[in-house]
Amino acid sequence: MLERFLRYVRIDTQSDEDSSTSPSSAKQLDLSRLLVEELSALGLADVELTEHGCVFATLHGSAGAPVIGLIAHVDTTPDSPGADVVAIVHENYEGGPIVLPGDPSQVIDPVEETELAARLGHDIVTSDGTTLLGADDKAGVAEIMAALAYLCHGREPQATVRVAFTVDEEVGRGTEHFDLEAFGAEVGYTLDGSGIGELEIETFSARQARVTIRGRGAHPGSAKDKLVNAVKLAADFVSSLPQHSLSPETTEGRQGFIHPSRLTASAEEAVITLIVRDHDSSLLEEHTDLVRRLAQAIEEREPRARVTLEIQETYRNMRGAIDEHPRVVLAAEEAIRRAGIEPVRSIIRGGTDGAVLSEKGLPTPNIFTGGQNYHSLREWASVQDMAAAAATVVELVRVWGEPSG
Ligand SMILES: [Zn+2]
Repeated sequence: MLERFLRYVRIDTQSDEDSSTSPSSAKQLDLSRLLVEELSALGLADVELTEHGCVFATLHGSAGAPVIGLIAHVDTTPDSPGADVVAIVHENYEGGPIVLPGDPSQVIDPVEETELAARLGHDIVTSDGTTLLGADDKAGVAEIMAALAYLCHGREPQATVRVAFTVDEEVGRGTEHFDLEAFGAEVGYTLDGSGIGELEIETFSARQARVTIRGRGAHPGSAKDKLVNAVKLAADFVSSLPQHSLSPETTEGRQGFIHPSRLTASAEEAVITLIVRDHDSSLLEEHTDLVRRLAQAIEEREPRARVTLEIQETYRNMRGAIDEHPRVVLAAEEAIRRAGIEPVRSIIRGGTDGAVLSEKGLPTPNIFTGGQNYHSLREWASVQDMAAAAATVVELVRVWGEPSG
């Protein structure tokens, strides 16, 4: 599994937020094509690279066994550099800060990171500090691949596995062209979580709001009683948002937020993009209403301005869809236990591709990968935790292959 992981992280697969093509960046396919080769070499059936860059394959299980989906994404976030990754394996971690040699200002300090402090004796993989590592989600890809390499020689009863390696998860388009019918699984699991033992069954429900403020431009030299400056109106709107609550920087756990994530403005027009999130859909409604009222208030203060608000659903909390299929969670917990780990149910302050798939009818919780500090130059992963995730995948395929009781 480690060999595979080190091979995959070397390939630059950064997705591109500003692209409208699919996949958003062609380089993601460099890894997708390698996975097609490796899946074929393992002898999997139906190995396919779809026109939009998704890799599908089948590992046939015992006759009559259910079909389960295993999903991971090949792309890495555009927020951090992802080319020319130099992965370093720090064997048998003995404690103390890990200084990353490519940029010694990047230090992974166990005092701040209790997860690292608890990993004495583990082999820790990092980048050299100049790029992210890419464990999000190449750890998930490597774990699924290693599990398949093991399972394709299996003689015990096992489920039929449908594999999907998707593109563009990090730019929110991971399921855009995901053909659920072609995938054909009854339940799914993303391998895209973090700390050992975690099973994520709940996500935020998320919306995007776009507030467009149209002012009135005028030459500043002769603007008296004419100019309506959208820059100032946008600034007023942003400062009218809750500051000490309902913000990502002031909330945790189950608390939701309204987060202005982007602002472009000229005197003539300003566009503010906000993300609105909560685990609870009625609270999400309340937060959305607040955005609506504050947007209307701009026009009340300056009737010459024109304000429009567009709301887009991003994804819904997958909890409801998953609760309808209790065996999805029970089987994952059983698999984690059989891998020697105590499962921990947890919630995500964000979304996963599984949230979208669950909403579309494929209940898809998220399983840990053993990676930490995602989207950061100080990203790291424990090889032993990754091995536990790969073992969990093996056990999961076995649990689903057993007659349900
Ligand atoms: Zn991910």
